[in-house]
Amino acid sequence: MSADPGDDRHVRLLLGAYVLDALEAEETCRVARHLQGCDGCARVYVEVAEASALLALLRAEDLRE
Ligand SMILES: [Zn+2]
Repeated sequence: MSADPGDDRHVRLLLGAYVLDALEAEETCRVARHLQGCDGCARVYVEVAEASALLALLRAEDLRE
């Protein structure tokens, strides 16, 4: 497991920033690797990514009006 005792074993707290591409490269790698092996976090990631895409659509529509 992780060498850092205070580390979040799962990456859910990082998923929002991961979707927005706001993480350090090192953290982005860690999240990507974790998502490949963790169904639970992968499901949360899809939800966060979809919500983020919807928000982007809404913003784009607002701009058009
Ligand atoms: Zn996980």
